[in-house]
Amino acid sequence: YFISFEGPDGSGKSTVLKQVVEQISPRLKTQYLVTREPGGSKIAEKIRQLILDPVNEEMSAKTEALLYAAARSQHMFETVIPALKAGKVVFSDRFVDSSLAYQGAGRNLGIAAVKQINDFATSKIEPDLTIFLDIKPQIGLARIAQERAGQEDRLEQEQLLFHQKVYEGYHEVNAAYPDRIKIVDANKALNLVVADCVKIIANHLPA
Ligand code: C5P
Repeated sequence: YFISFEGPDGSGKSTVLKQVVEQISPRLKTQYLVTREPGGSKIAEKIRQLILDPVNEEMSAKTEALLYAAARSQHMFETVIPALKAGKVVFSDRFVDSSLAYQGAGRNLGIAAVKQINDFATSKIEPDLTIFLDIKPQIGLARIAQERAGQEDRLEQEQLLFHQKVYEGYHEVNAAYPDRIKIVDANKALNLVVADCVKIIANHLPA
């Protein structure tokens, strides 16, 4: 059973995922695996470093999208598919929907084009369930700025516009896959967000 976690920057995704797994894992009848993207395998983590290195900020949108897809392909081949075959529950911090939102919408490549390269990369294997942590970009980015206290008091307009496009892209994707993607309000206190996620997962896991 394959579960992905999605959300804009500052949605608390990684913290929420960690706590959800702590609460849900004692109830699982099978083994589980927690992984993340970009990354989740040795080669994919190397590609992550390459993409996220600020030195490479002039990287073209298409190169970036292809590298995310390449990392994902390796992550599937090496990590996710073997775990699913072994009957494990797989929790992934980000998956294809991130690329549709960030590269498709945020970097203007188009959701359909980015979907196509990712279908090739994943052989169309999709999560059974996706949790989307919903928070408006202004609020998510403000949370991040607060954590880095003082360093970035002011949100740059360009950055905000990019994250607004990402957010709209996510909602377009969410509307296209209402059965798979469940939206959780991430404005609430952490323990309440975690509780909402745990409830959804518990209701969906096969008996
Ligand atoms: O989720 P995490 O914080 O690990 O993501 C790392 C960074 O990569 C984030 O800043 C996110 O905005 C970016 N990202 C991206 N496109 C993706 C996935 C992540 O720009 N497809």
